[in-house]
Amino acid sequence: MDSVSVLDSTEQPKMIPKIHALKSFENLADTTFVRLADYSNDFEYDLRYATENNFLKAKVYECAECYTRVKTAKALIKANDDFISKGLKIKFYDCYRPNSVQYKMWEIVPNPQYVANPVKGSIHNKGGAVDITLVTTTGEELDMGTDFDFFGKKAYHDNMDLPQEILDNRRVLKETMEKYGFWSIRTEWWHYNLASASNDRIADFKWECKQ
Ligand SMILES: [Zn+2]
Repeated sequence: MDSVSVLDSTEQPKMIPKIHALKSFENLADTTFVRLADYSNDFEYDLRYATENNFLKAKVYECAECYTRVKTAKALIKANDDFISKGLKIKFYDCYRPNSVQYKMWEIVPNPQYVANPVKGSIHNKGGAVDITLVTTTGEELDMGTDFDFFGKKAYHDNMDLPQEILDNRRVLKETMEKYGFWSIRTEWWHYNLASASNDRIADFKWECKQ
């Protein structure tokens, strides 16, 4: 064994953060699906449907990945650069969702109030919707008043009966996302649709799970 090594034979080498070159959007069509982490290192992820920590209490993704169409990814990176200039960044709860997973969710909760009917599909199935919150550059979550997927009035954008700090946090999220072409929906402070995604096709592309 090399004399400078600090490892004994039973110890695994410590994980060294991978320095990977980011990919370029060059020559990619706007509707191509991309893995966001290949194009930016500046996002945080807590992909809840790859865990049981969600309103379904079920893990419906094989592994945690965040894919969107190219145009959505570009708009998200621009929005995130704006947040970074404010000392914040985007943390994802959900991104593109294959239509077959929408069917799986509908099987568990067949209620259009909580899950979009898979036949019609959701903008998540089109690669144009994301569920997000904001964290500080050190990863601390901003208080948005409720957890992700809290279904009730407390999560509504038009519920003003909340402490000023929460209203301010939601406002900075909404105003910035709108500036980069996203729409909000009234009942979920975390959900944003890319406006130009509404006419895209529902997809069932499945991402690769390494390991
Ligand atoms: Zn959503």
